[in-house]
This record gives sequence, structure tokens and C-alpha cells, in this order.
Amino acid sequence: MMAAVKACNILITGANRGLGLEIVKQLLEDSSQKRHIFATCRDPDGPKSEALRELAKKHPSVITIIRLDADDPSSVKESAKKVGSLLGKSGLNLLVNNAAIALTGSIQTSSVEDMKNTFNTNVIGPLLVIKEYLPYLQAAAKASGIPGMSCNKAAVINISTLWGSMTRMPSVYTQFPVLPYCVSKAGFNMLTVLAAEEFKADEILCMALHPGWVKTDMGGEKAPLESKDSVEGMLRVIGSLTEKHHGGFLDYTGETMPW
Ligand code: NDP
Repeated sequence: MMAAVKACNILITGANRGLGLEIVKQLLEDSSQKRHIFATCRDPDGPKSEALRELAKKHPSVITIIRLDADDPSSVKESAKKVGSLLGKSGLNLLVNNAAIALTGSIQTSSVEDMKNTFNTNVIGPLLVIKEYLPYLQAAAKASGIPGMSCNKAAVINISTLWGSMTRMPSVYTQFPVLPYCVSKAGFNMLTVLAAEEFKADEILCMALHPGWVKTDMGGEKAPLESKDSVEGMLRVIGSLTEKHHGGFLDYTGETMPW
């Protein structure tokens, strides 16, 4: 299935495995679009990035691997400098904040370190990524000359989860005690809503997307969805976004999720 995403310059965090890597793969399958993918990961030379390195070797003109550790503000800054020097005047059209960690625990078992680590990666990391890449998103929005909002113009897609939902999570919390993760993703959802407010005037689309429960290292073996199906759905949704979806929360099928 072809991705409907027509964005030219795309950046993805956590692109070395799981859903991030699958997004890169499916964007590559769609050769009808001329694009450049900045596939970022925290350890480009490490063993966990081998699959991404293989892909980049096969498609050197389409993929650039960039080091970006969401947990390390200076690496986020460095990455933005590097990407900025490679981007033309057309700027960055699509930023996908995908990297995250999921630590388990309850109020009684979650340590301060667990909470800090999860917040650093899942909330502060994406905030800094958005902040550092904002000038390139603004450049893309300006360069497009098209009114309105779309991922082909300038967009921030935050890969969130229904587990960040105030109304949905309580019913499954006893079964899945993942308090640090849920609290951080609720914060991430708020970040999405406030970023949407802040970037309205720039016409940079910003929304949260739930991938479904997917078989990855994070989702585990019991998950009902394959990465391929989740990402096909997410790319279809991303490709169809307009200003109507700005500040919203959808899942991979396009259904509206509760906050
Ligand atoms: P995985 O655990 O399979 O992959 C996580 C990715 O994030 C890896 O590439 C990992 O890199 C990267 N990452 C973790 N910490 C950092 C960091 N500090 N800096 C940069 N990259 C980092 O997870 P999924 O692919 O399943 O999840 C992707 C997104 O989807 C997440 O935001 C998650 O919350 C969300 N999601 C997933 C669901 C599922 O069922 N799988 C359900 C709902 C939401 P490394 O290899 O270096 O660790």
C-alpha cells in the first residue's frame, strides 16, 4: 500500500527500530514522491541501528542518518544544526516525534529516577525537538505558498498513545500498571495541544496520533497489530490531515481518540 504522504523533507525520531523504522521503510516504498528522510536515532553506529544503516546504504540519496538522543538536549541541538545545513530553502515539511520509552510501575513502585527518565525522553525531548526544528518548519510553511494546513506543507506529528488518555487509561490501569509512561504521555498530549495553539499563526499543523497496540519491543508479543498495518494506517491518516485536525488526537484508523 502506497503512503499518501507527499512531504518532501521528513524527520523521524527513534527511526532505528519498531514503528519509527517501519515508517522509514514504507516511505521508501513509495518511490512516486521525491523526498528526503532524516532518520534520527540515538546510536547510529550501534548494533540496534543495523537495519537502518542497511536501508541507508541502499538508498543513500533519500536517507540521511542523524544522531539525536531525545534525552540529551545538546544532541538535539547538534542534530538541528546538521539537518539545517542539509535542508534547502524548502525547509522541513514533516516532523514525527516517535521516540519514547515505556517504564512500568505504580505510585508505590515508581522511583524518582523512573519518572525523570520517562519525562526526559517522552516530554522534554519532543519539546526540545519541536523548538530546535521550528525555524525549518516555519520556512517550509512559508515556502509552500499554499493556504491552510497539511503534512505536505509543515506538520508536527506526535506519536502518542491511548494510555495517555485521562478518560480511557483508568479502566486498564490495574491490568497494565505503567504509571511513568501514562503520566508522561498525558503531558505529551498537553504539549501537542499547546504547540498547536502556538503554531496556528504559522500554519504548522500539530496533532497526536495513536498507533494502536502494535507488536514491537514496546508493544510485546500479545499485541494484535503488526507494525506494517499500524504504519500503513498512520501514513494514510497523516497524508489526509487538514487544519480540521489541528490540535486533535486520532488513531491509526483516523478515529478521534478521547483526551
Ligand atoms: P520501541 O520500543 O519498539 O522503539 C522505541 C524507539 O524509540 C527506538 O527506536 C528507541 O531507540 C527510541 N528511543 C528510546 N529512547 C530514545 C532516546 N532517548 N532518544 C532517541 N530515541 C530513543 O517502541 P515502538 O516502536 O512500539 O513505539 C514507537 C512510538 O509509538 C512510541 O512513542 C510509543 O509510545 C508509541 N506507541 C506504541 C505502541 C505499541 O503498542 N507498540 C502503542 C501506543 C503508542 P533505541 O533503539 O536506541 O532504544
